[in-house]
Amino acid sequence: MKQNIQIGKVILAGAGPGDPELLTMKAFRFLQKADVVLTDRLVSEVIINDYVNPSAEVLYVGKQCRRGLSTPQVTINELMVEYALQGKLVVRLKGGDVSIFSNVLDELEALVINKIPYEIIPGITAGLGAAAYCGIPLTARNHSTAVRFLTNYKSDVLSEAYWKELAQTDDTLVFYMSAETANDVVEKLTAEGISSEKLIAVVEQATTPLQNVYTSNLYDFKEKLGDKAFKSPSLLIIGKVVQLHEQFRWLPNHKTSTEYFTPVKKDLRLFDKAERA
Ligand code: SAH
Repeated sequence: MKQNIQIGKVILAGAGPGDPELLTMKAFRFLQKADVVLTDRLVSEVIINDYVNPSAEVLYVGKQCRRGLSTPQVTINELMVEYALQGKLVVRLKGGDVSIFSNVLDELEALVINKIPYEIIPGITAGLGAAAYCGIPLTARNHSTAVRFLTNYKSDVLSEAYWKELAQTDDTLVFYMSAETANDVVEKLTAEGISSEKLIAVVEQATTPLQNVYTSNLYDFKEKLGDKAFKSPSLLIIGKVVQLHEQFRWLPNHKTSTEYFTPVKKDLRLFDKAERA
């Protein structure tokens, strides 16, 4: 006999960069009603523990490629689709914003192919969160007129011609997934003669209580910070605007090396409900 189960819905929501209070009201409202939450690694545990409907199932589908412990994207797609087909309200919670350096396209394709209704809720991307919590206005007057979100997660993402142009532009550059290749970024920009007026800030665990900011002239970076293993997640802000950090910073560095976000675990696991109580 054919069962008439109404199809559920998937909410693709950004959770913001770290500080749980940077979640939008709209995402909060859906988390309160959710039957299932599929969460990334870079989502504050406070959001999961305090803001999610206590009877929701929470699945941890983190990715941490460098540790080789990622939940396969197909598994995430299948989970979203399966739960929605059971009539559930699924919130797919992603760190920062939904569309910046994420696999949202794969997820959207899976939803469309399976005719699952969905909504997208934006979140504060890490670059904007970091800029605010560092006192660095990204397009400050007389400093920069544009900002670019980039990645150098491996050294051949950007062409030589593009690096040349990046070294010349006055745009502020924000590099995601590039803390481990920071030396490579700096080397490429200095090799192309980037102005020494431009500084680099490495922002570790931005907007969390464990935020640390390290700034340097690009030409001194290797000597000053070249050997440092930055805590994950970190991003780079490069440009004249980084000069403003000194004057407008409002959050002191935390100076410990504790990790705010839980590292990815071996198994996709159901959050223990008692743990969240
Ligand atoms: N969708 C996310 C980005 C995912 S890519 C967003 O919009 O923010 C993951 C990268 O984002 C990390 O490697 C790091 O470069 C950056 N990132 C995420 N959260 C961060 C944080 N709290 N502090 C610094 N960088 C962060």
